Amino acid sequence: PAMDKEAVLKAVRDNNIKFVRLWFTDILGVLKSFAVTPSELETALEEGMGFDGSSIEGFCRIEESDMIAMPDPSTFTMLPWRTKESGGVARMFTDVQTPDGKPYAGDPRWVLRRNLQKAADMGYTMYVGPELEYFYFKDSKSTEPLDQGGYFDLTPLDVASDLRRDTIFALESMGIDVEYSHHEVAPSQHEIDLRFKDALQMADAAMTYRLTVKEVAMQHGVYATFMPKPIFGENGSGMHVHQSLFNGDKNVFFDGNDMYNLSKEGKSYIAGLLKHAPEITSLVAQWVNSYKRLVPGYEAPVYVAWARRNRSSLVRVPMYKPGKEKATRCEFRCPDPACNPYLAFAAMLAAGLKGLKEGYEMPDPVEDDIFEMNTQMRDERGITSLPGSLGEAIEVTAQSELVKECLGDHVFNQFINNKRVEWDQYRVHVSQFELDRYLPIL
Ligand code: GLU
Ligand code: MG
Ligand code: MG
Repeated sequence: PAMDKEAVLKAVRDNNIKFVRLWFTDILGVLKSFAVTPSELETALEEGMGFDGSSIEGFCRIEESDMIAMPDPSTFTMLPWRTKESGGVARMFTDVQTPDGKPYAGDPRWVLRRNLQKAADMGYTMYVGPELEYFYFKDSKSTEPLDQGGYFDLTPLDVASDLRRDTIFALESMGIDVEYSHHEVAPSQHEIDLRFKDALQMADAAMTYRLTVKEVAMQHGVYATFMPKPIFGENGSGMHVHQSLFNGDKNVFFDGNDMYNLSKEGKSYIAGLLKHAPEITSLVAQWVNSYKRLVPGYEAPVYVAWARRNRSSLVRVPMYKPGKEKATRCEFRCPDPACNPYLAFAAMLAAGLKGLKEGYEMPDPVEDDIFEMNTQMRDERGITSLPGSLGEAIEVTAQSELVKECLGDHVFNQFINNKRVEWDQYRVHVSQFELDRYLPIL
């Protein structure tokens, strides 16, 4: 059962908690935190805690910089890397408010809440199961791997087994259920899959997951990174997002009479994801480096198509197993784990719901390897591409009514401006590639 204020106060007393961290997220998905002492906690739970939002990315500048962080007691949990004996530390996610107690338009958690409410008004709960991949390196200054293992490899190649095990224990102690974990395709690349939850809880869980992976790595003297493509020539790290809509106990995506076991709603949701994918790509793949991952040949999508098996496709619909109605879902494969999960889930939902509301038709699946097709073959089959760079992606988003509506004007404008600056900084940079290529011949 979700905790309330009283339960939080009791847990803090019973567990010798010395600090309670209040967490929120900036527009780029960076976790922000400040700590209150137990003596402040009761007031904090009732009135929220004031802070200066002026230097938080995507929040207000200077004017109106007073913000309130209102703790969400249902998210209370202890942080396992601080022991009870030494004085424990707990955390709660907060909703950011303006001083007059209204939701703050720049708070990504609010953006997701607002979009989930739209789904709720249609009778739907969004469930998501993300697969966050990441690398372990010796430190943050190099990309020296810990192992040379590959897909599903086990010890002795996979020295990271212990790291993964400790991470899973830590996640489970915080109420985040893990489905399975394994070594990924690239050396020193790993994946821990979370059991599906409703989208708000899962966005919180994804934030917690990233911190936990990094904390546990640090305790073992190594570095964990969610950078989308740290090593040229190896697979990058994705965050495939499995998603479905439920009406109460019923999976709205399932229809046992359909050849794909997908309902009309499920199909038009997928059609919405496909049609609007280019517009939302900048939100699920938000860094210059994200687009080094979205290239042919590394199991990451480049083209807009769906399939049941094909791993080069953007949307995959896992094959139905009898008795598994609840597991009927689609997997959206272009997000990477360095996105802002609140904004990413909100954008995917908005795209899917748009398709559903307007009854979009799902195209036929493409089971052939799209990477093997040439431009003409793709054109004949109507297969379009995702944006090829952050610069391209952000300009497609800037034209999107769907995304503007989804994020609200404040976050939309802040995000576009921030990303245009990032792109411009990258664009003027002279890279080693250019020096190696051009200096000798020009
Ligand atoms: N690492 C791949 C990606 O960038 C995904 C591999 C997989 O299918 O799990 O999306
Ligand atoms: Mg994977
Ligand atoms: Mg997957």
